[in-house]
Amino acid sequence: MEGRKDRDQKVTDKLRENVKRIPEYVPGKSVDEVKRLFGLKKVVKLASNENPYGASPKALEILRRFDKLHVYPSPNEVEELIERISEYLGVEEERIVIGAGIDGILENVFKMFVDPSDEVIIPIPSFPYYHTLASVMNAKEIRVKRKGDFRIDEESIIGSVTDRTKIVIVCSPNNPTGNVEDVDAVRAIVESCNALVFIDEAYAEFASRDLMELSEYENVVVARTFSKAFGLANLRIGYAVMSTELKKAYMKVTTPFPVSSIAILAAIASLEDLEHMKSCVEKIRAERERLYHELKNRVRVYPSEANFLFFESHMKSSELAEELMKRGVIVRDCSKFVGCSPFSVRVSVGRREENDEFLRALDDVLRG
Ligand SMILES: *Cc1c(COP(=O)(O)O)cnc(C)c1O
Repeated sequence: MEGRKDRDQKVTDKLRENVKRIPEYVPGKSVDEVKRLFGLKKVVKLASNENPYGASPKALEILRRFDKLHVYPSPNEVEELIERISEYLGVEEERIVIGAGIDGILENVFKMFVDPSDEVIIPIPSFPYYHTLASVMNAKEIRVKRKGDFRIDEESIIGSVTDRTKIVIVCSPNNPTGNVEDVDAVRAIVESCNALVFIDEAYAEFASRDLMELSEYENVVVARTFSKAFGLANLRIGYAVMSTELKKAYMKVTTPFPVSSIAILAAIASLEDLEHMKSCVEKIRAERERLYHELKNRVRVYPSEANFLFFESHMKSSELAEELMKRGVIVRDCSKFVGCSPFSVRVSVGRREENDEFLRALDDVLRG
């Protein structure tokens, strides 16, 4: 008889080969874990680029009052949020989609475009999830090195495009390096090929300029999020701007209810309280500049237009991160990021006292 249970075969043997090859996901340590592990009373987490001032009080108030947990999110709520985003960006509602964070939107865009052995161009180093998705789809990753200041090498990217190229990723400000891209460099890529150029602007609010104008091109998607500047990371909500044609295709592949009502209503409340977001961004930018100059005396730090700083020291970053953790400060060791040196660290810009805590711990480690 065929299809009978073979006791020696495990279902994990049947996983797709590309999934087996993806390295196991190792989440960063939480504040509570580090407290327990090292017996610390106070721990500062500067590892996930979260907003240290939290969400708008208006968004928090929505959560307190919300009681419709038993029904699916309503299309009216989605429409209202899209209307608010449209006003916020000055972009037509017909071109806006919302999703479960930029991560959820990225997943849908890959579902829309990428067949096995299609090519995806990723400038390196950049956000790790791009590599994960390319592997999941069985795509061929084309990794293009950045220039010395971490800006994309547009000529090299254009030279790498083939008939099989489906997506070109552009992240600006780039995670983990913090630099923004020049609109003309990205425009050159957009105009030179038919591939989709996915522009990830998770940190746009912290930057002096953005690439939203490129969303007018039919082969561009610009994605933004409520996770960073708006402080709603835990609610998993983001949005993207694309052509009306692409939006139609997007709506075919997305799960029916990707975002909860709570997230939608909190996002609406956040857009009604832009003052909160702007005041957070202002404080974070000021601290970013202060921290940059402090770090400049200690390590090789790069200018940033995001809410984090990227630096390299003489110590291996795995070791440096571990030593900082023992002293109650969690940073992101980037040595495993594709295209990063073994000395690469990303530190989020926190509140003033958190940043001071980090500097104190760093001095202690580097002196020792
Ligand atoms: C944080 C981050 C994301 C994830 O955003 P969500 O909206 O929370 O999914 C996406 N891209 C980059 C570059 C990020 O740093």
